[in-house]
Amino acid sequence: MGEACPSCRSGDAEHDAAAWRQERNCIDESHLGVNLVRCPACGGRALRIFTELIDWSEGDDSQATLLVPLPTGNPGTLSDEARVAALLARLPLDTHLARIHPKGMTTPPTWTWRQGRAHILPHD
Ligand SMILES: [Zn+2]
Repeated sequence: MGEACPSCRSGDAEHDAAAWRQERNCIDESHLGVNLVRCPACGGRALRIFTELIDWSEGDDSQATLLVPLPTGNPGTLSDEARVAALLARLPLDTHLARIHPKGMTTPPTWTWRQGRAHILPHD
């Protein structure tokens, strides 16, 4: 699926993260959002996973968004967290994009390409 797609796999994480277009919402909870997204240039799909961990004491919430490219084919039903986690566990070890804003971070978070398996991060 577009190993060298100049739109979603250029290696420039900010550029690549901007390539994806919404295809389908899978989970829409206040602290967990999962969407199936698609790169218009190569047709490849990815999961966009948003998680939020509320900081009840200081209001400095931790937020993370992952973009996890998927192999071609039907990703199946992704209507709950267990199914999404099962899909992530089945994926070949690969790279994914991450934008993480931990508690206490004062600069705007940026996208980075990370190696290895993606996991749903802790969330409320
Ligand atoms: Zn692409």
